Amino acid sequence: MTAQRFARAAVMVEPRQDLVLREYPVPHAPPGGAVVRVTCCTICRSDLHTWRGLRPAPTPIILGHEIVGTIAELGPGLARDVRDQPLAVGDRVTWTLHSACGKCRYCVEFRLPMKCRSLRKYGHDSCQAPPHLRGGLAEYCQIDAGTSLLKLPPGLPDFAAAPANCAAATAAAAWEAAELKSGDSVLIQGAGALGCYAAALAAHAGCRRVVVVDVNARRLQFIRRFGATDCIDASNAAVDAVAAIKELTEGLGVDAALEVAGDPAIIETGLLSLRTGGRYIELGCSFPGARATIDMSIVLWKLLTVRGVHNYDVRHLITAVDALHEAQDRFPLGDVVGASFGLEEVNAALRAAHEGTAMRVAVIP
Ligand SMILES: [Zn+2]
Ligand SMILES: [Zn+2]
Repeated sequence: MTAQRFARAAVMVEPRQDLVLREYPVPHAPPGGAVVRVTCCTICRSDLHTWRGLRPAPTPIILGHEIVGTIAELGPGLARDVRDQPLAVGDRVTWTLHSACGKCRYCVEFRLPMKCRSLRKYGHDSCQAPPHLRGGLAEYCQIDAGTSLLKLPPGLPDFAAAPANCAAATAAAAWEAAELKSGDSVLIQGAGALGCYAAALAAHAGCRRVVVVDVNARRLQFIRRFGATDCIDASNAAVDAVAAIKELTEGLGVDAALEVAGDPAIIETGLLSLRTGGRYIELGCSFPGARATIDMSIVLWKLLTVRGVHNYDVRHLITAVDALHEAQDRFPLGDVVGASFGLEEVNAALRAAHEGTAMRVAVIP
């Protein structure tokens, strides 16, 4: 019998407090699942929201869901990834941020597995009970049955791949909801990580105009390198963003607009910037209390579609990873991660992520 292995994990005992390092036994891979040695976890804005107590989470908890790792153990019944590629110990993988039952009406009939009635999300559950290790800020992570694993192409570095498992995949889900195609024009409200991936996907797919509005000149400068064709600095009160967008689109307005800033006050501007028949995709306001006052006659008269996007399905993760792989020479994907820290420096990592000088901060456990 081999000795029980232990893994270090950074545990949030209470919001707004420093994480503490704890050790947990490394579980064996469950049937249909796996155990992964985490090689990189990038800190998502929603991790910061939980850490800052802005959204409820069970404690103690191991945060982190933008994860890349290598397979340490495969459970019985798991032999292939979502593309039907064979899986083996040592393979570098990422996986959907949720596990789903595959049987409930959300999974089967509504095709919304991200809303499965037995949904579990990595980095969202208490780590009090076994298997403990279900978050990215730890040396190992247990993958449950019902999670879609995706083998990563060797040419795509961890830094570029980790944010695919949330930001880029969510941007891909928004892309699909927006029904965008080559030659279209799109407005992206917000130049953070979601905005950068949305811009890159739009540019990669051949959108004619990728217009970005933000109040931060540095971010607007950065997103130009991700395919933004036109940047509007909304911090300048003299700028009429809607008029500027109309001018860029022959007076029509954009085909689709994506709200990725998490600011309900900008939604009406987005609706006014759309052409008749356009699509408005809301994916930034992922917190309670995001109230907006909207003149609904804009939606009615312009025959607009307004859709919400929250998390994603496995096809969006595949789209994101493929697009990042194909476009990695075109866009500075590695620059999304501005700093990296070891697990023992996790509190410095959280503070750096909170300061927001980089799009993403990585923890290398
Ligand atoms: Zn289900
Ligand atoms: Zn996230």
